[in-house]
Amino acid sequence: MSELNYDVIVVGSGAGGAMAAYTLTKLGHKVLMLEAGRDYDPKTETPMFNTNGDAPLMGSGNVDKDFGFYDATVDGGWTVPDEPYTTGPDSEFLWWRARMLGGRTNHWGRYSLRFSKHDFKGFTRDGLGADWPFEYDDISPWYDKTEELVGICGTNTGLDDMPDSPEGILQPPPKPRIPELLVSAAAKKLGIPTAPMHRAVLTRPKDDRQACFYATSCIRGCSIGAAFQTTTSLLPMAKATGRLTIITDAMVKAVNVDDKGKVNAITYIDKKTKQTHKLDAKVIILAASACESARILLNSKSERHPQGLANSSGHVGKNIMDSTGVSFGAHIPSLEGRPKYNEDGHTANHLFIPWWGHKKQENKELDFPRGYHFEIGSGFRAPGSWVGGDLDGYGKPLKDIAKQAYGTYVGLALRGEMLPNAGSYMEIDEEVKDKWGIPVVKFHWKWSEHELKQVEHGLKTAKKILETMGASFTKPLPKAQDAILKGGQIIHEVGSTRMGANPKESVTNQWGQTWDCDNVFVMDGGVFASNPHKNCTLTIMTLAMRNSTWLSKQLVNGVL
Ligand SMILES: Cc1cc2nc3c(=O)[nH]c(=O)nc-3n(C[C@H](O)[C@H](O)[C@H](O)COP(=O)(O)OP(=O)(O)OC[C@H]3O[C@@H](n4cnc5c(N)ncnc54)[C@H](O)[C@@H]3O)c2cc1C
Ligand code: SF4
Repeated sequence: MSELNYDVIVVGSGAGGAMAAYTLTKLGHKVLMLEAGRDYDPKTETPMFNTNGDAPLMGSGNVDKDFGFYDATVDGGWTVPDEPYTTGPDSEFLWWRARMLGGRTNHWGRYSLRFSKHDFKGFTRDGLGADWPFEYDDISPWYDKTEELVGICGTNTGLDDMPDSPEGILQPPPKPRIPELLVSAAAKKLGIPTAPMHRAVLTRPKDDRQACFYATSCIRGCSIGAAFQTTTSLLPMAKATGRLTIITDAMVKAVNVDDKGKVNAITYIDKKTKQTHKLDAKVIILAASACESARILLNSKSERHPQGLANSSGHVGKNIMDSTGVSFGAHIPSLEGRPKYNEDGHTANHLFIPWWGHKKQENKELDFPRGYHFEIGSGFRAPGSWVGGDLDGYGKPLKDIAKQAYGTYVGLALRGEMLPNAGSYMEIDEEVKDKWGIPVVKFHWKWSEHELKQVEHGLKTAKKILETMGASFTKPLPKAQDAILKGGQIIHEVGSTRMGANPKESVTNQWGQTWDCDNVFVMDGGVFASNPHKNCTLTIMTLAMRNSTWLSKQLVNGVL
């Protein structure tokens, strides 16, 4: 049993866990954080200024570095050594995990869009999926606080898909790139808006963090703290309170209960010594990422909780949603031969296309529910292995056409809402264990006709926009079922421990507190009741801040 002195144990140091630890320590509570990955310091470990030319294969990805040779993920990726997972028959699912302090925040895309009024009440609007157990107005002050703390650049647009932030919260967005302005002009002709992307990147200095200098690749990590990651912001800030203790290489296996079924301890394996430890626990926050937290709950079986902890509803592991994804792009002739200059910007797109179809859906003009957005890929990025693309040739002639084509390709990446369906869920594989003896997850996956129709619409729209920009196509559009990316591949998996208004159809209440065990909370994407097309992490952090503040009140008032 533990000799450490703490009020709350937080599992995981990514977006949800770090925000919970930050909020609780600032409110005066002592927190112990258990993180399965190794310690990581972006200030000293980030290869920001190396060039792709210095790296093997011109910096392109390999089995250890899926997102390129210099990717910030020092441990993890599509496969994690010694930690397999399985998939059911006819199911394809890709599970991206980071095993390092800060989790996936060290290299995420940092797109950070608020969900809006209609996003929280999808079921009420079209009878599909589930509503969230609160309104947009309940969460909007928490979005304000999170955006302020995290540092989000962008602007208020007044568009119905993008709720405004109060004056002074958002930092100014970077200027659009030339190809993005061309997309914007073409989209406008078709009645489709474009807007500055909201991104967790500082364009002005804040706290100890510096502003972006627009010259390096954010997926390598950001040693100056401009791009938000918990390792350069929330974790150091929480540590500075003197109330946060972090144990890395601590793989949580299960949550333990007493004779009455109340949680009283947590078991983890020290990956370095391979020893098992059991710690006393008054309150536990699971923020190990949606499917890992569900795995811990399902693996925490006891006499009182035979289907796994907090699973009397049978909903742990069900309702998993990812975003839909498909990419479509083309060479734009009018971009050839323009002067070459540094167009890196803050790496990702400066403009994007938010969802514009709510009115059309109300008028029944579209054959699919919910929405999608397009992220724009373009510009003169630092050359890497991708520069040759599908160009043919050898030597100087190839160099010449590569130069001519450099910066002329525009890609539109669709990210759309998925609805939960009975064929998309996870369970524990009774046959397979990981290196630490912990039973692994088995995924089942199915896209429904809602997602396929949405992708079909997206492909047609992307083609129209690119044609309006001057692109020409010789091949027909791919079929939606062939073009849609695999389940999990967009890395926005959520919903495995969803929140709701009653314990029969959900795992937690609106505070992330499990209905069955009042001292166990979930503070990652598992609690999402739906998965709007907007990237999930801003909402994970906002909920973690709001729900930890509520938890703090329960602790102070002696309710927990
Ligand atoms: C390439 C990429 C691009 C992305 N782009 C975006 C984007 O633009 N916008 C967006 O909103 N989201 C994006 N995401 C998704 C985003 O990273 C995740 O939504 C977010 O990080 C989830 O936060 P989390 O706290 O739930 O989990 P994580 O950040 O994954 O953190 C979980 C932590 O828990 C630890 N852990 C897991 N299991 C255990 C265990 N048993 N015991 C102890 N510790 C454990 C892990 O090691 C990890 O450090 C992207 C992700 C990737 C990989
Ligand atoms: S582009 Fe800006 S935010 Fe991204 S890594 Fe470089 S300095 Fe950091």
